[in-house]
Amino acid sequence: MSFPYDAPVSQTLFDRASLVTPGGVNSPVRAFRAVGGTPRFMVSGTGPYLTDADGREYVDLVCSWGPMILGHSHPEVIAAVQEAVARGTSFGTPGEGEVALAEEIAARIEPVEQVRLVSSGTEATMSAIRLARGFTGRAKVVKFAGCYHGHVDALLAAAGSGVATFGLPDTPGVTGAQAGDTIVLPYNDLEAVRAAFAAHPGEIACVITEASPGNMGVVPPLDGFNAGLKELCAEGGALYISDEVMTGFRTSKAGWFGVDGVRPDLMTFGKVMGGGFPAAAFGGRADVMAHLAPVGPVYQAGTLSGNPIATAAGLAQLRLLDDAAYAKVDAVSAEIRSLVSEAFTKEGVAHTVSAASNMFSVFFTDQPVRNYEDAKKQEAFRFTAFFHSMLSQGVYLPPSAFESWFVSTAHDTQAVERIAAALPAAARAASEATS
Ligand code: PLP
Repeated sequence: MSFPYDAPVSQTLFDRASLVTPGGVNSPVRAFRAVGGTPRFMVSGTGPYLTDADGREYVDLVCSWGPMILGHSHPEVIAAVQEAVARGTSFGTPGEGEVALAEEIAARIEPVEQVRLVSSGTEATMSAIRLARGFTGRAKVVKFAGCYHGHVDALLAAAGSGVATFGLPDTPGVTGAQAGDTIVLPYNDLEAVRAAFAAHPGEIACVITEASPGNMGVVPPLDGFNAGLKELCAEGGALYISDEVMTGFRTSKAGWFGVDGVRPDLMTFGKVMGGGFPAAAFGGRADVMAHLAPVGPVYQAGTLSGNPIATAAGLAQLRLLDDAAYAKVDAVSAEIRSLVSEAFTKEGVAHTVSAASNMFSVFFTDQPVRNYEDAKKQEAFRFTAFFHSMLSQGVYLPPSAFESWFVSTAHDTQAVERIAAALPAAARAASEATS
């Protein structure tokens, strides 16, 4: 398709970037490969808006892939960062900010008795898996097709969005040995999990699942799925790891745990808890966490883990996220979802708006989407036309049909009105799209 809206400064930057960085980006989905066109190079963000290098403003429905739940440049987060920066940027020693952030996490999420801070969600899941293997003395890991847990070698199998977007079933560079102990099962299928435990008695260290998946589009767990996983893990002597990197501190004050109440053995966090900085964590049962160095034998470390600026930003953000903030994000999400659905219905576009509290995405199908196979059956080509129409009208959506959309407390009436104004033409473009 042709792209109605050119971005000459972004294009020049992209050309420069492509010479020095593979594909011109530092994380593949940013390259717009799934939708085509010029990735927008952003120069600033304020509240619900981003401004690109060509000086155009967008309502941001990506929110840095989840972290910016208070919107961009929230004054209190910026002040906390400035105050922390003025005291120095990294000490490589313990600091009070890390303690306060760990206490805040544990206070919000009851199953977290102990927590360790790391710098990315990938590190959190990688470390949780290592700990589960070290604790149980077992090798095998169960994951679900369409769930993404970062680019951990053992977990980069049937890993949803980024990988889905590029159609890479397995990535070169991950050896058979690294992936050989990974069992990939269909999501929302407890029978498949039961069968895996029966086929590998005493071998499964853990089951890792997104608490509510957002990496194949938003596909919430069916009633009883997470509880069933927990039960099967307990029966099979395996740990139940809930990956809340995306849902943590977003879907409620206590993340998805606050929604379904299923108590994991270990949990992973990232995104919102870093306030836009590289901070992530894993935590859970104290008896399991006691296996980590320096108390126990399972090694895990990080030069910048618990970085004072990242912890100051994360703590400032979490402290602002009270019940009223979540009510606001939930309400604006519901409003946008209903506007989106209304626009597609008007144009006769088959669609499902799938939500997990305030996270949501659109599937171009009217059939139920319960797992990755269902998600892939949607008419994803319609998304490309929809995406470019929205972009040209100043609304920045995730550049893939298999990603969650994110909103913030800063998405006010004016921002919602801009989205509402863009939707009719975009829905029409989706309805007229041909594969
Ligand atoms: N787990 C989940 C559920 C995620 O959505 C992501 C990233 O999107 C990760 C882990 C990896 O986090 P990071 O990109 O910080 O390494």
